[in-house]
Amino acid sequence: MLADEVASLLDHLGVSPDRRHGTRAVRSPLTGETIAHLEDASSQGVAETVAHAEAAFRQWRSVPPPRRGELVRLLGLELRDAKDVLGRLVTIEAGKIVSEGRGEVQEMIDICDFAVGLSRQLYGLTIASERPNHRMMEQWHPLGPTGVITSFNFPVAVWSWNAALALVCGNPVIWKPSEKTPLTALAVQALFERAAVKAGNIPDGLCTVLIGGRDVGEALVNDPRVPLISATGSTAMGREVGTQLARRFARGILELGGNNASIVCPSANLDLALRAIAFAAIGTAGQRCTTLRRLFVHDSVHDEFVAKLTRVYASVRIGDPLASDEVLVGPLIDEAAFETMQCALAEARAHGARIHGGERVEEKRFPNAYYVRPALVEMPAQTGPVLRETFAPILYVMKYTDLNAAIEQHNAVAHGLSSSIFSTDMREVEKFLSVAGSDCGIVNANIGPSGAEIGGAFGGEKETGGGREAGSDAWKAYMRRATSTVNYGDDLPLAQGVRFDI
Ligand code: NAD
Repeated sequence: MLADEVASLLDHLGVSPDRRHGTRAVRSPLTGETIAHLEDASSQGVAETVAHAEAAFRQWRSVPPPRRGELVRLLGLELRDAKDVLGRLVTIEAGKIVSEGRGEVQEMIDICDFAVGLSRQLYGLTIASERPNHRMMEQWHPLGPTGVITSFNFPVAVWSWNAALALVCGNPVIWKPSEKTPLTALAVQALFERAAVKAGNIPDGLCTVLIGGRDVGEALVNDPRVPLISATGSTAMGREVGTQLARRFARGILELGGNNASIVCPSANLDLALRAIAFAAIGTAGQRCTTLRRLFVHDSVHDEFVAKLTRVYASVRIGDPLASDEVLVGPLIDEAAFETMQCALAEARAHGARIHGGERVEEKRFPNAYYVRPALVEMPAQTGPVLRETFAPILYVMKYTDLNAAIEQHNAVAHGLSSSIFSTDMREVEKFLSVAGSDCGIVNANIGPSGAEIGGAFGGEKETGGGREAGSDAWKAYMRRATSTVNYGDDLPLAQGVRFDI
């Protein structure tokens, strides 16, 4: 019984039994069984949580940033201790293979380390003033309560990308996790609370979790006391959230869907490309925002490469990730994901596709879970379902002869998240990385589009939403900039030579 194991994992992680009852059934995609019940937040509960965050903000914003960093350092230590247990809970609740469940927690640890360093580097510029005896500078101030809405497929890491930065920047964090993965959120909250006790003097309401579905997310998005919402999920969700935020002039960090592609050039190291493409297209059962969904292979290597890839697709081990470390593909999140995948494959067939795989497996053993063989789909052209994101392991493969034309096709979709080129010709690589190349937020060479690491700014263009998180200067989105000019002279010269003598 998975429910018993989940109960003991939650005990171990310190999730209070008070939070573990209610009318929302939580299921595991591994078997389809119900593993816990939780209570959704009411609209009054959302309002009270935001009020607590507002009160916490008044205190937290005045704590010096390196002291805020100390809390995040302690959170990183809790996560190190809990890595295997929390990772296992991620596997049970989201269906990831065991190494990916643990990897997600490692990513949380990495962003905590990054944020601790950042807590001493929240720099503003000083700027040359045209006026004598004047100094101009910019200061970065905390912004306020930050709402974080997350998707099921990175149930814990995405919160940490936001929370670690928001906390050192001086903001409280209110988390609305996916309704499909709320247990891991409660577990992380319990770890945060342990870190807060060790840090001491942490205001109540600094980090909170609101369990619930879309309605709870909407209440957070529409609350005027929340100046920033970071929302990760589908483009359909981002379109609604973005519109609501614009209406009240609030800020958004939108991390939405992807329809990511790679190009395999004639000079590519094909063995390396094969391994990279297999991981990017098949890994996480195709349920990463950066999953490889479209592949353009040069005519001269196409048949050889696709034959090799077909063999990988036919042999990759699929099944319950808890049963063996050799399992590389876990289940889809639910039946709806399976149906959406089958519809996309039927549509591709109608567009002339030749399909390898894509069928349901393990159905007898797990009638209420949805395991599939990843689908390799040879397409005559980039049409129909190839143009959209289907959140399942489908890789559409197309032939190309001219790199410029392939780059044009590469960019001819609505999303702009991640991309890569496989080539040992530096002119081809540089062209792909140049302004005339990929139009994505992530542009790689000789690795796949998935598997980003902490430190670089993560996010994408067009219908991916434009947000950036988890590295570089992404912290600026969590702060407000004040430009200050100080006159330390006795005269009052005006800018642009304006005269105003009274
Ligand atoms: P989803 O859009 O169904 O749900 C995401 C979250 O948004 C959930 O917490 C949900 O309750 C909430 N939500 C939905 N509608 C809302 C609304 N109108 N107002 C407020 N909140 C709302 O996405 P999902 O199925 O959980 O995740 C898969 C999608 O997420 C894919 O499209 C994937 O590409 C994308 N994703 C993007 C990134 C990224 O960084 N770009 C990362 C992970 C996943």
